[in-house]
Amino acid sequence: MNITILKNILKLSTLFIFTQLPLAQSADAKPVPVKVQKLSDSVYMLTGKGGNLGFSVGVDGVVVIDDQFDDMADNIRNAITKTSKQPVRMVLNTHWHGDHTGGNEKMHELGAIIIAQENVRKRLTTDQFMKAFKKEVKARPRSAWPVVTFTQSLTIHLNDDTMMVNHLPHAHTDGDAFIFFKEDNIIHTGDLYFSGMFPFIDVGSGGSLAGMISGVKTILKFADDKTRIIPGHGKLSNKKELQDYLKMLKAMQQKFQALAKQGKSLDEAVAAKPLATLSGKWGGGFMKADNMVQLLYPSTVDNIKNGD
Ligand SMILES: [Zn+2]
Repeated sequence: MNITILKNILKLSTLFIFTQLPLAQSADAKPVPVKVQKLSDSVYMLTGKGGNLGFSVGVDGVVVIDDQFDDMADNIRNAITKTSKQPVRMVLNTHWHGDHTGGNEKMHELGAIIIAQENVRKRLTTDQFMKAFKKEVKARPRSAWPVVTFTQSLTIHLNDDTMMVNHLPHAHTDGDAFIFFKEDNIIHTGDLYFSGMFPFIDVGSGGSLAGMISGVKTILKFADDKTRIIPGHGKLSNKKELQDYLKMLKAMQQKFQALAKQGKSLDEAVAAKPLATLSGKWGGGFMKADNMVQLLYPSTVDNIKNGD
């Protein structure tokens, strides 16, 4: 096949796949029903449209991790109300993307304090450009801004649980955090983890494959064989599956590095199908093998050039 035609097909397929990502959904998309899974006496997982939520209920009130899209806020609130009549006191944003922070305004109206790593606030308070989608994202209204920020870590002591929040640098974005519910032995990974799928990595927002790998390693240090793991996207998971995902990320990095060391261009790298052996198990989500090469190979080449 003519290389120009191949390039155009790849570009089109990339654009098509990327616009299927939940975070690229338009504001007028319809709300969908939510599903709630009880993980312990106080911690629940909620899935709907966009990033998975975790929430804690108890005598001290409700703490919510991420809040999907604006049009999901009523469904989310109604689902939470079925488990607790207490007010939503806090919302923790795991990162700035709209499929995890879109409900911030409504949560703020309910009286919640919004908390996030400081780079999340920087990105929500200013216009952003998402390189992967060639899409401008306007600064969010004041009511959506995190009002409590942290740099490395913070701990919340509510509902008889210790919620340890830790920043993972340059992973999915530059502002990621994961949450470990110590007493309940539950982890919410944010978008460090797409269970059973290749992940999206927002290189334009400071994310990197190397950072994802080291971030997942950090999360695994908090997990044991009984830990329930709420991924940013995909079904409820566990340590063993997260370890498999880490192996996949490392294998991907090695394949990209080998091609970069051979001096392959992006087109040559895509044509070499370096992820063919991983694609069957991991390519069934938003991101396909070719998308991963296009998204991450250029920065691998830069890193090799810079001797990283
Ligand atoms: Zn994300």
